Amino acid sequence: MREINAKLTQEMGDLARDLLASGEVKGVFGWTKGSRWYLTPPVFITKPEEADQLCYDEFAVNNLTGLLLDFRDSQDKIAIFVKGCDSRGIVRLVQDNQLKRENVLVIGVPCPGMGDKGAVTDHRQAQELPLLAKCLECRYPNPVLADRTIGGVTVTTEPSAAPSGATAEAAKGRGVGSKQADRFAQVEAIEKMSPDERSAFWQAQNEKCIRCYACRNICPACNCRECIFDSDKKNWVNKAATPTDNAFFGITRAMHVAGRCVECGECERVCPMDIPIMAMNRKLIGDLNELFGPYDAGVKPEEKPPLGAFKLDDPEEFM
Ligand code: SF4
Ligand code: SF4
Repeated sequence: MREINAKLTQEMGDLARDLLASGEVKGVFGWTKGSRWYLTPPVFITKPEEADQLCYDEFAVNNLTGLLLDFRDSQDKIAIFVKGCDSRGIVRLVQDNQLKRENVLVIGVPCPGMGDKGAVTDHRQAQELPLLAKCLECRYPNPVLADRTIGGVTVTTEPSAAPSGATAEAAKGRGVGSKQADRFAQVEAIEKMSPDERSAFWQAQNEKCIRCYACRNICPACNCRECIFDSDKKNWVNKAATPTDNAFFGITRAMHVAGRCVECGECERVCPMDIPIMAMNRKLIGDLNELFGPYDAGVKPEEKPPLGAFKLDDPEEFM
């Protein structure tokens, strides 16, 4: 992996340097090597000489697409590196009119599957880490759209396509997508609970939530200009993190992304309290699939989200 990572990092830096030097873009979102071997956090560069800061490896996990919201009112063209899951965030932002497609240069990268830093036992010595659950369940390991690519990755909207490009063998060997069939397993387990058990389960989650809003802040679908949870005028919810207010936040967040969630799994990954946020997202995805037919959000920009369109034969028994 080390050689492949070094090659991809080189390719990334060369392309970013050219784009900035030619003036084709004003800035580039990518990843950089952090202070530990298992950290590869986001970076934003604006000068060709900063291109050496870019790095790509199996810890470049952050979905960077939500960061483009900082440029939603700008005419500047910005480049962004995207893995398969991230690329669906671009479609989300374009469909939500938060981003002009012509103002973003999307660069697709092949994904080897991201390591779970929660499994790190030695902070000084690099070790093999298991994949994040979201990578095991991944159905879109290749970018669904891109203007440029590196590492020979294939751009495709085909669900469950095999990983492609320079990291394809590594991705397959590490099990990327090998648990796609388990995507709804947690939802099914919760649905099997009695109403009292289910209530107790979610009550326990709501008691854990500290309302840090990390889940909201990383999410490309949570893109309102002013979130009701930040407003001090409407008093929709107490600022104190009580279980009742947390439940209101959690349900509102989930309903807000219903039919729009691109399943990048970032909300759950960044939650410091290990709340199973994807279970809520997937419950709504499963229900929408059942009611309106199969739909993967953030794949085809021309396809309207099921709750953003109206058809005469839409089911209406819930109305
Ligand atoms: S990231 Fe977790 S703890 Fe923070 S607000 Fe979201 S659910 Fe609550
Ligand atoms: S709700 Fe979670 S999984 Fe869905 S788009 Fe937002 S961060 Fe990604």
